[in-house]
Amino acid sequence: MLAPRAEYAADPDRSRGRRFAEPGSPTRSEFQRDRDRIVHCTAFRRLEYKTQVFVNHEGDLYRTRLTHSLEVAQIARSVARCLGLDEDLVEAIALAHDLGHTPFGHAGQDALNECMKPWGGFEHNLQSLRVVDELEQRYAVFDGLNLCFETREGILKHCSPANARKLGELGERFLAGRQPSLEAQVANLADSIAYDNHDIDDGLRSGLLSLEALAGIRLFGRHHDAALRAHPGLSGRRLIHETIRRMIGELVTDLIGETRRRIAEAGVRSIDQVREGPALAAFSPPMREQATQLERFLNAELYRHERVSAVMSRARAIVAELFERYRSDPALLPDEHRDRVSVLGERAIADYIAGMTDRFAVREHARLTGSPWNDPGAGVLGGASEAAP
Ligand code: MG
Repeated sequence: MLAPRAEYAADPDRSRGRRFAEPGSPTRSEFQRDRDRIVHCTAFRRLEYKTQVFVNHEGDLYRTRLTHSLEVAQIARSVARCLGLDEDLVEAIALAHDLGHTPFGHAGQDALNECMKPWGGFEHNLQSLRVVDELEQRYAVFDGLNLCFETREGILKHCSPANARKLGELGERFLAGRQPSLEAQVANLADSIAYDNHDIDDGLRSGLLSLEALAGIRLFGRHHDAALRAHPGLSGRRLIHETIRRMIGELVTDLIGETRRRIAEAGVRSIDQVREGPALAAFSPPMREQATQLERFLNAELYRHERVSAVMSRARAIVAELFERYRSDPALLPDEHRDRVSVLGERAIADYIAGMTDRFAVREHARLTGSPWNDPGAGVLGGASEAAP
Protein backbone atom coordinates (compact mmCIF):
# COMPACT_ATOMS: atom_id res chain seq x y z
CA MET A 1 0.00 0.00 0.00
CA LEU A 2 3.00 2.31 0.50
CA ALA A 3 3.76 4.79 -2.21
CA PRO A 4 6.77 6.94 -3.12
CA ARG A 5 6.29 10.73 -2.96
CA ALA A 6 3.61 11.52 -5.49
CA GLU A 7 3.87 14.28 -8.08
CA TYR A 8 0.68 15.86 -6.66
CA ALA A 9 2.10 15.96 -3.09
CA ALA A 10 3.06 19.22 -1.42
CA ASP A 11 6.83 19.66 -1.74
CA PRO A 12 8.66 21.32 1.18
CA ASP A 13 11.38 22.49 -1.22
CA ARG A 14 8.80 24.35 -3.29
CA SER A 15 6.69 25.82 -0.51
CA ARG A 16 4.91 29.08 -1.23
CA GLY A 17 6.92 30.28 1.73
CA ARG A 18 6.67 31.85 5.16
CA ARG A 19 5.36 35.31 5.92
CA PHE A 20 8.81 36.32 7.19
CA ALA A 21 11.76 34.87 5.26
CA GLU A 22 14.00 32.58 7.30
CA PRO A 23 17.13 30.62 6.41
CA GLY A 24 16.51 26.91 5.75
CA SER A 25 17.37 24.17 8.23
CA PRO A 26 20.33 21.87 7.57
CA THR A 27 18.54 18.92 9.18
CA ARG A 28 14.79 19.27 8.64
CA SER A 29 12.36 19.97 5.81
CA GLU A 30 10.23 23.12 6.01
CA PHE A 31 7.13 21.08 6.90
CA GLN A 32 9.04 19.17 9.59
CA ARG A 33 10.00 22.51 11.12
CA ASP A 34 6.35 23.55 11.10
CA ARG A 35 5.30 20.33 12.86
CA ASP A 36 8.05 20.85 15.45
CA ARG A 37 7.08 24.48 16.06
CA ILE A 38 3.49 23.39 16.69
CA VAL A 39 4.48 20.65 19.17
CA HIS A 40 6.61 23.13 21.12
CA CYS A 41 4.04 25.94 21.29
CA THR A 42 2.00 26.91 24.35
CA ALA A 43 -1.40 26.52 22.70
CA PHE A 44 -0.55 22.88 21.92
CA ARG A 45 0.03 22.08 25.60
CA ARG A 46 -3.27 23.74 26.52
CA LEU A 47 -5.12 21.16 24.39
CA GLU A 48 -4.57 18.65 27.20
CA TYR A 49 -7.08 20.50 29.35
CA LYS A 50 -9.67 21.40 26.75
CA THR A 51 -12.96 19.62 26.18
CA GLN A 52 -13.50 17.36 23.20
CA VAL A 53 -17.00 16.19 24.20
CA PHE A 54 -16.66 15.68 27.93
CA VAL A 55 -15.38 18.48 30.15
CA ASN A 56 -11.84 17.73 31.23
CA HIS A 57 -12.50 17.10 34.93
CA GLU A 58 -15.32 14.60 34.24
CA GLY A 59 -12.97 11.66 33.89
CA ASP A 60 -9.35 10.83 33.13
CA LEU A 61 -10.05 8.41 30.30
CA TYR A 62 -12.10 10.59 27.95
CA ARG A 63 -10.53 12.20 24.91
CA THR A 64 -9.24 15.70 25.32
CA ARG A 65 -8.41 18.05 22.43
CA LEU A 66 -4.82 16.85 22.77
CA THR A 67 -5.45 13.12 22.48
CA HIS A 68 -8.01 13.85 19.75
CA SER A 69 -5.36 15.79 17.80
CA LEU A 70 -2.85 12.94 18.22
CA GLU A 71 -5.40 10.43 16.90
CA VAL A 72 -6.12 12.69 13.92
CA ALA A 73 -2.39 12.93 13.23
CA GLN A 74 -1.99 9.15 13.36
CA ILE A 75 -4.84 8.50 10.93
CA ALA A 76 -3.81 11.34 8.61
CA ARG A 77 -0.22 10.07 8.43
CA SER A 78 -1.34 6.52 7.64
CA VAL A 79 -3.45 7.78 4.75
CA ALA A 80 -0.76 10.20 3.56
CA ARG A 81 1.90 7.49 3.48
CA CYS A 82 -0.25 5.27 1.28
CA LEU A 83 -1.05 8.11 -1.10
CA GLY A 84 2.54 9.36 -1.37
CA LEU A 85 1.65 12.68 0.28
CA ASP A 86 3.91 14.69 2.60
CA GLU A 87 3.53 13.09 6.02
CA ASP A 88 5.13 15.97 7.90
CA LEU A 89 2.66 18.43 6.41
CA VAL A 90 -0.43 16.33 7.23
CA GLU A 91 0.92 15.82 10.73
CA ALA A 92 1.52 19.55 11.21
CA ILE A 93 -2.01 20.35 10.01
CA ALA A 94 -3.56 17.63 12.19
CA LEU A 95 -1.72 18.72 15.33
CA ALA A 96 -2.62 22.37 14.79
CA HIS A 97 -6.19 22.05 13.54
CA ASP A 98 -7.84 22.58 16.94
CA LEU A 99 -5.39 25.06 18.51
CA GLY A 100 -8.02 27.80 18.40
CA HIS A 101 -10.67 25.91 20.31
CA THR A 102 -12.17 27.67 23.31
CA PRO A 103 -12.60 25.93 26.66
CA PHE A 104 -15.67 23.63 26.77
CA GLY A 105 -15.65 22.69 23.09
CA HIS A 106 -18.43 23.84 20.82
CA ALA A 107 -20.49 25.22 23.70
CA GLY A 108 -17.64 27.61 24.53
CA GLN A 109 -17.21 28.60 20.91
CA ASP A 110 -20.95 29.26 20.46
CA ALA A 111 -21.00 31.44 23.57
CA LEU A 112 -17.93 33.40 22.53
CA ASN A 113 -19.29 33.82 19.00
CA GLU A 114 -22.51 35.20 20.48
CA CYS A 115 -20.57 37.65 22.70
CA MET A 116 -18.42 38.77 19.76
CA LYS A 117 -21.32 39.24 17.27
CA PRO A 118 -21.00 43.05 17.21
CA TRP A 119 -17.24 42.78 16.64
CA GLY A 120 -17.00 40.23 13.84
CA GLY A 121 -17.94 37.05 15.72
CA PHE A 122 -15.68 34.17 16.72
CA GLU A 123 -14.76 31.09 14.64
CA HIS A 124 -12.55 28.49 16.30
CA ASN A 125 -11.03 27.51 12.98
CA LEU A 126 -10.03 31.08 12.19
CA GLN A 127 -8.75 31.33 15.75
CA SER A 128 -6.42 28.35 15.13
CA LEU A 129 -4.84 30.39 12.34
CA ARG A 130 -4.70 33.44 14.63
CA VAL A 131 -2.82 31.37 17.22
CA VAL A 132 -0.10 30.31 14.77
CA ASP A 133 0.01 33.66 12.91
CA GLU A 134 -0.19 36.14 15.77
CA LEU A 135 -0.81 34.94 19.31
CA GLU A 136 2.14 32.67 20.03
CA GLN A 137 5.13 34.65 21.26
CA ARG A 138 8.26 32.58 20.80
CA TYR A 139 10.47 34.30 18.29
CA ALA A 140 12.61 37.40 18.60
CA VAL A 141 11.59 39.07 15.38
CA PHE A 142 7.99 38.08 14.61
CA ASP A 143 4.73 37.20 16.30
CA GLY A 144 3.29 33.71 15.86
CA LEU A 145 5.08 30.63 14.55
CA ASN A 146 5.71 31.91 11.01
CA LEU A 147 4.49 28.66 9.42
CA CYS A 148 4.57 27.81 5.73
CA PHE A 149 1.67 28.79 3.48
CA GLU A 150 0.74 25.10 3.01
CA THR A 151 0.41 24.50 6.75
CA ARG A 152 -1.64 27.66 7.27
CA GLU A 153 -3.81 26.79 4.26
CA GLY A 154 -4.51 23.39 5.84
CA ILE A 155 -5.30 24.80 9.26
CA LEU A 156 -7.94 27.10 7.77
CA LYS A 157 -10.55 24.46 6.90
CA HIS A 158 -13.48 26.75 6.44
CA CYS A 159 -14.03 30.43 6.48
CA SER A 160 -16.89 32.85 5.83
CA PRO A 161 -16.58 34.99 2.67
CA ALA A 162 -16.39 38.13 4.82
CA ASN A 163 -13.38 36.77 6.74
CA ALA A 164 -11.83 35.27 3.59
CA ARG A 165 -11.65 38.77 2.05
CA LYS A 166 -9.49 39.90 4.96
CA LEU A 167 -7.03 37.01 4.65
CA GLY A 168 -5.27 37.84 1.39
CA GLU A 169 -3.92 34.87 -0.58
CA LEU A 170 -4.96 32.45 2.17
CA GLY A 171 -8.61 33.49 1.79
CA GLU A 172 -8.64 33.38 -2.02
CA ARG A 173 -9.69 29.78 -2.37
CA PHE A 174 -12.87 30.30 -0.35
CA LEU A 175 -13.92 33.07 -2.70
CA ALA A 176 -12.83 31.25 -5.87
CA GLY A 177 -14.19 27.82 -4.87
CA ARG A 178 -10.78 26.14 -5.06
CA GLN A 179 -9.38 23.33 -2.90
CA PRO A 180 -6.42 23.18 -0.53
CA SER A 181 -3.60 20.61 -0.92
CA LEU A 182 -4.41 16.91 -0.68
CA GLU A 183 -2.54 16.91 2.64
CA ALA A 184 -5.10 19.40 3.98
CA GLN A 185 -8.02 17.44 2.53
CA VAL A 186 -6.74 14.23 4.13
CA ALA A 187 -6.19 15.86 7.54
CA ASN A 188 -9.77 17.14 7.41
CA LEU A 189 -11.24 13.69 6.77
CA ALA A 190 -8.90 12.10 9.33
CA ASP A 191 -10.45 14.51 11.84
CA SER A 192 -13.90 13.05 11.21
CA ILE A 193 -12.66 9.43 11.26
CA ALA A 194 -11.02 10.15 14.63
CA TYR A 195 -13.98 11.80 16.33
CA ASP A 196 -16.66 9.51 14.92
CA ASN A 197 -14.81 6.56 16.41
CA HIS A 198 -13.49 7.96 19.67
CA ASP A 199 -16.84 9.53 20.46
CA ILE A 200 -18.44 6.08 20.22
CA ASP A 201 -15.84 4.82 22.69
CA ASP A 202 -16.27 7.77 25.07
CA GLY A 203 -20.05 7.67 24.65
CA LEU A 204 -20.16 4.02 25.66
CA ARG A 205 -17.70 4.57 28.51
CA SER A 206 -19.88 7.35 29.92
CA GLY A 207 -23.00 5.20 29.70
CA LEU A 208 -24.74 7.83 27.57
CA LEU A 209 -24.70 5.57 24.50
CA SER A 210 -25.88 1.98 24.54
CA LEU A 211 -24.52 -0.92 22.54
CA GLU A 212 -28.09 -1.88 21.62
CA ALA A 213 -28.75 1.50 19.99
CA LEU A 214 -25.36 1.52 18.26
CA ALA A 215 -25.96 -1.95 16.85
CA GLY A 216 -28.70 -0.37 14.69
CA ILE A 217 -26.12 1.89 13.01
CA ARG A 218 -24.89 0.04 9.92
CA LEU A 219 -21.19 0.84 10.14
CA PHE A 220 -20.97 -0.09 13.81
CA GLY A 221 -23.42 -3.01 13.65
CA ARG A 222 -21.62 -4.65 10.74
CA HIS A 223 -18.22 -4.59 12.46
CA HIS A 224 -19.68 -5.51 15.83
CA ASP A 225 -21.21 -8.64 14.25
CA ALA A 226 -18.00 -9.44 12.37
CA ALA A 227 -15.95 -9.13 15.57
CA LEU A 228 -18.36 -11.50 17.33
CA ARG A 229 -18.24 -13.98 14.46
CA ALA A 230 -14.43 -13.97 14.58
CA HIS A 231 -14.36 -14.18 18.38
CA PRO A 232 -17.55 -15.83 19.68
CA GLY A 233 -18.23 -14.92 23.29
CA LEU A 234 -16.19 -11.70 23.16
CA SER A 235 -17.82 -9.03 25.30
CA GLY A 236 -17.39 -5.78 27.20
CA ARG A 237 -14.55 -3.40 26.50
CA ARG A 238 -12.61 -5.79 24.27
CA LEU A 239 -15.62 -6.20 21.98
CA ILE A 240 -16.04 -2.42 21.76
CA HIS A 241 -12.37 -1.86 20.95
CA GLU A 242 -12.31 -4.76 18.48
CA THR A 243 -15.32 -3.20 16.73
CA ILE A 244 -13.90 0.32 16.67
CA ARG A 245 -10.48 -0.70 15.36
CA ARG A 246 -12.22 -2.53 12.49
CA MET A 247 -14.31 0.54 11.75
CA ILE A 248 -11.27 2.80 11.65
CA GLY A 249 -9.53 0.29 9.39
CA GLU A 250 -12.42 0.20 6.94
CA LEU A 251 -12.86 3.98 6.86
CA VAL A 252 -9.13 4.50 6.26
CA THR A 253 -8.98 1.84 3.53
CA ASP A 254 -12.07 3.26 1.84
CA LEU A 255 -10.68 6.80 1.98
CA ILE A 256 -7.38 5.69 0.43
CA GLY A 257 -9.12 3.69 -2.31
CA GLU A 258 -11.66 6.35 -3.27
CA THR A 259 -9.06 9.14 -3.19
CA ARG A 260 -6.71 7.12 -5.43
CA ARG A 261 -9.59 6.52 -7.82
CA ARG A 262 -10.47 10.20 -7.98
CA ILE A 263 -6.87 11.27 -8.46
CA ALA A 264 -6.51 8.84 -11.35
CA GLU A 265 -9.84 9.83 -12.88
CA ALA A 266 -9.00 13.52 -12.74
CA GLY A 267 -5.51 12.85 -14.14
CA VAL A 268 -4.03 15.10 -11.48
CA ARG A 269 -0.23 15.43 -11.65
CA SER A 270 0.61 18.50 -9.61
CA ILE A 271 -0.46 20.36 -6.50
CA ASP A 272 -1.66 23.21 -8.73
CA GLN A 273 -4.11 20.82 -10.39
CA VAL A 274 -5.16 19.56 -6.94
CA ARG A 275 -6.00 23.14 -5.94
CA GLU A 276 -8.12 23.71 -9.06
CA GLY A 277 -10.63 21.24 -7.62
CA PRO A 278 -12.94 19.44 -7.19
CA ALA A 279 -12.15 17.80 -3.83
CA LEU A 280 -10.13 14.63 -4.39
CA ALA A 281 -9.91 13.17 -0.88
CA ALA A 282 -13.24 11.51 -0.16
CA PHE A 283 -15.03 8.42 1.05
CA SER A 284 -16.85 6.27 -1.50
CA PRO A 285 -20.57 7.14 -1.75
CA PRO A 286 -21.72 4.04 0.24
CA MET A 287 -19.17 4.77 2.99
CA ARG A 288 -20.09 8.46 3.04
CA GLU A 289 -23.72 7.42 3.56
CA GLN A 290 -22.83 5.12 6.45
CA ALA A 291 -20.60 7.71 8.10
CA THR A 292 -23.40 10.26 7.82
CA GLN A 293 -25.84 7.86 9.48
CA LEU A 294 -23.36 7.41 12.35
CA GLU A 295 -22.76 11.16 12.66
CA ARG A 296 -26.50 11.85 12.82
CA PHE A 297 -26.79 9.26 15.56
CA LEU A 298 -23.93 10.76 17.59
CA ASN A 299 -25.40 14.19 17.15
CA ALA A 300 -28.81 13.21 18.47
CA GLU A 301 -27.81 10.67 21.10
CA LEU A 302 -24.50 11.97 22.45
CA TYR A 303 -23.76 15.62 21.63
CA ARG A 304 -27.34 16.60 22.42
CA HIS A 305 -27.84 14.19 25.29
CA GLU A 306 -29.54 16.06 28.10
CA ARG A 307 -26.66 15.38 30.48
CA VAL A 308 -24.08 16.70 28.03
CA SER A 309 -26.38 19.66 27.29
CA ALA A 310 -26.74 20.51 30.97
CA VAL A 311 -22.97 20.67 31.44
CA MET A 312 -22.62 22.64 28.22
CA SER A 313 -25.23 25.23 29.11
CA ARG A 314 -23.31 25.85 32.35
CA ALA A 315 -20.13 26.14 30.27
CA ARG A 316 -21.81 28.64 27.91
CA ALA A 317 -22.84 30.76 30.89
CA ILE A 318 -19.28 30.75 32.26
CA VAL A 319 -17.81 31.97 28.96
CA ALA A 320 -20.49 34.64 28.53
CA GLU A 321 -20.06 35.88 32.11
CA LEU A 322 -16.27 36.00 31.80
CA PHE A 323 -16.61 38.05 28.64
CA GLU A 324 -19.00 40.53 30.22
CA ARG A 325 -16.88 40.95 33.36
CA TYR A 326 -13.70 41.65 31.42
CA ARG A 327 -15.51 43.98 29.05
CA SER A 328 -17.07 46.06 31.80
CA ASP A 329 -13.81 46.15 33.77
CA PRO A 330 -10.61 45.41 31.79
CA ALA A 331 -8.67 45.92 35.03
CA LEU A 332 -9.70 42.34 35.85
CA LEU A 333 -7.43 41.11 33.06
CA PRO A 334 -3.73 40.33 33.50
CA ASP A 335 -1.58 43.36 32.51
CA GLU A 336 -0.51 42.04 29.14
CA HIS A 337 -4.09 41.33 28.05
CA ARG A 338 -5.38 44.62 29.40
CA ASP A 339 -2.79 46.39 27.26
CA ARG A 340 -4.01 44.47 24.22
CA VAL A 341 -7.61 45.54 24.92
CA SER A 342 -6.59 49.17 24.57
CA VAL A 343 -5.30 48.37 21.07
CA LEU A 344 -7.61 45.61 19.82
CA GLY A 345 -10.77 46.14 21.88
CA GLU A 346 -13.07 43.14 22.41
CA ARG A 347 -10.96 40.89 20.13
CA ALA A 348 -8.26 40.85 22.83
CA ILE A 349 -10.81 39.61 25.38
CA ALA A 350 -11.89 36.87 22.96
CA ASP A 351 -8.24 35.88 22.46
CA TYR A 352 -7.73 35.63 26.21
CA ILE A 353 -10.87 33.56 26.84
CA ALA A 354 -10.28 31.32 23.82
CA GLY A 355 -6.83 30.49 25.16
CA MET A 356 -8.17 29.31 28.51
CA THR A 357 -8.27 25.65 29.47
CA ASP A 358 -11.53 24.31 30.92
CA ARG A 359 -10.23 24.33 34.47
CA PHE A 360 -8.64 27.76 34.20
CA ALA A 361 -11.96 29.17 32.95
CA VAL A 362 -13.80 27.54 35.87
CA ARG A 363 -11.31 28.92 38.39
CA GLU A 364 -11.27 32.36 36.84
CA HIS A 365 -15.06 32.45 36.78
CA ALA A 366 -15.16 31.44 40.44
CA ARG A 367 -12.63 34.15 41.28
CA LEU A 368 -14.61 36.86 39.50
CA THR A 369 -18.14 35.86 40.47
CA GLY A 370 -17.66 33.86 43.66
CA SER A 371 -19.83 31.10 42.19
CA PRO A 372 -18.34 27.59 42.00
CA TRP A 373 -18.71 25.33 38.96
CA ASN A 374 -21.56 23.36 40.49
CA ASP A 375 -21.42 20.74 37.79
CA PRO A 376 -24.94 19.62 36.79
CA GLY A 377 -23.52 16.41 35.33
CA ALA A 378 -21.25 15.57 38.27
CA GLY A 379 -21.55 12.02 39.45
CA VAL A 380 -23.29 11.05 36.25
CA LEU A 381 -20.63 11.53 33.63
CA GLY A 382 -17.57 11.45 35.76
CA GLY A 383 -15.69 8.87 37.72
CA ALA A 384 -17.74 5.86 36.68
CA SER A 385 -15.03 4.06 34.78
CA GLU A 386 -11.84 5.49 36.18
CA ALA A 387 -10.64 2.10 37.35
CA ALA A 388 -11.36 0.35 34.06
CA PRO A 389 -8.34 -0.60 31.93
MG1 MG B 1 -10.85 18.19 15.49
